[in-house]
Amino acid sequence: MAKIEIIKGDITTLAVDAIVNAANNTLLGGGGVDGAIHRAAGPDLVAECATLGGCETGDAKITKGYKLPACHVIHTVGPVWHGGHKGEPELLRRAYRSCFAVAHTNSVKSIAFPAISAGVYGYPMEEACSVAMDEAKAALEHYPELEKIVFVTFSDGALAIYQRQFKTLFP
Ligand code: ADP
Repeated sequence: MAKIEIIKGDITTLAVDAIVNAANNTLLGGGGVDGAIHRAAGPDLVAECATLGGCETGDAKITKGYKLPACHVIHTVGPVWHGGHKGEPELLRRAYRSCFAVAHTNSVKSIAFPAISAGVYGYPMEEACSVAMDEAKAALEHYPELEKIVFVTFSDGALAIYQRQFKTLFP
């Protein structure tokens, strides 16, 4: 599927309509990709985030991109992994769906995702990737205006998992 791209790199460098932030419920910044996005965007980002009243797990909220090459940041909160029987798969699915819904409402045509929940939140990469791929496939069917979905991995291991699952889903 030509609309899906898988790369290894730093999501903060991408000039897409929106990059997705794997944020926490406060939306006030944190470690990992969240910290990298806030550092690259500059202090205006946290100032706008502070007006949003946080974000429930599985929900998503949009801001401007400020100093980022991306026009917008879609902040979502994935679940913390507790072994897989605390509703984690459904919550992660909901996080991806919320991002695509917010993207649609804001005429976002190109969107880049990190591996939501698969860092500090501990979601196994293989399972997290499977949810991401599934929801990307569904979104491309739902939202024909979507031109590009970029999955940004941050390690060789994650890149290999994404590439393998992509080939399985889109043979
Ligand atoms: P979470 O708290 O949702 O697990 P993390 O930021 O800890 O979020 O990790 C999510 C994923 O993002 C991890 O796979 C991590 O390696 C990756 N990551 C960290 N920094 C960046 C970055 N600058 N660009 C893309 N991915 C990143």
